[in-house]
Amino acid sequence: MKRRDFIKGAGAGAVLAGAAATPLVQAAPQFKWKMVTTWPKNFPGMGTGANHLAKLIEEMSGGRIEVKVYGAGELVPAFEIFDAVSRGTAEMGHGASYYWKGKSEAAQFFAAVPFGMTAQEMNAWLYHGGGMALWEEVYKPFGLIPTAAINTGVQMGGWFNKEINSVADLKGLKMRIPGLGGEVLQRLGGTPVNLPGGEIYQALQSGNIDAVEWVGPYNDLAFGLHKAAKFYYYPGWHEPGTVLECFINEKAFKALPKDLQTIVLTACKAANMDGLSEFTARNNEALHTLVTRHKVQLKKFPDDVLRQLKVTSDVVVAEIAAKDPVSKKVYESFVKFRDQVVAWHDVSERAFLNARAGG
Ligand code: CA
Repeated sequence: MKRRDFIKGAGAGAVLAGAAATPLVQAAPQFKWKMVTTWPKNFPGMGTGANHLAKLIEEMSGGRIEVKVYGAGELVPAFEIFDAVSRGTAEMGHGASYYWKGKSEAAQFFAAVPFGMTAQEMNAWLYHGGGMALWEEVYKPFGLIPTAAINTGVQMGGWFNKEINSVADLKGLKMRIPGLGGEVLQRLGGTPVNLPGGEIYQALQSGNIDAVEWVGPYNDLAFGLHKAAKFYYYPGWHEPGTVLECFINEKAFKALPKDLQTIVLTACKAANMDGLSEFTARNNEALHTLVTRHKVQLKKFPDDVLRQLKVTSDVVVAEIAAKDPVSKKVYESFVKFRDQVVAWHDVSERAFLNARAGG
């Protein structure tokens, strides 16, 4: 006999005794939520990360919240999830905040800033350096509550069909590269294109674009990008610790009792940590596979190219600060934190990595 039937059929005394010992975990969900995503359904890392987060919320809430995940295009197209959650078509959205620069320039600081911060530094800024409060301020006008829900770690520079030997080689380059990295490429004479993940492989293979950055070995291998381009460049100067987000419709969130609100936010935090761990573990396996099995030519961007990219990046990022007061506030917080954490990491992370490498 099911517990619910048992309770229904039992006397009042039995119900009270049972209620004290066990919450009514078998009850039908009190909140049926939808999560729309910018990722192909079940795509390794991102799609599966969204699934994992939904499951975590269901389990932690004892089934009181049910979250159904939709891949890109299932309920709304990839780049319409921001509006969809804002107007309440879905309660949650899983994407990356640099996709929404058309809504708010400042949003880009919460995904990836060229030559910005690593995963560890981003999490430090968000959770303990004032970043989260600023992100909330940026999304507030859209009726959304942001959270960090995965961090990819340092990404790769991308797949190219020609070698990049000098800054001049970036001229005329048509490359899928979103956000601020794309803006930097444009300043150096390239043409950035913003395509959702599901359209990347075909665009590169058909020659519609000359180069692609997607994420890193784990995700790039899953798309088979090594079959469409010859050279795999590093480092991902444009995305040093990209935050993937889960934003929540504010009204839906406020309709939750306090304990469920905490559960949703805590599940996002757990997913954020788990995502970084997964990316780190799978990237190192996938890089090995790409190089040993698929004979991918791994190349580092020349130092002078990286130097120019950094100079241009600093200009582009500083310009955002001048666009509106909120962007200025976010920029100032970001840069102050970055400069300070760089000084600390020079004598900790970097010094250690150098020492470990024997140099
Ligand atoms: Ca990327």
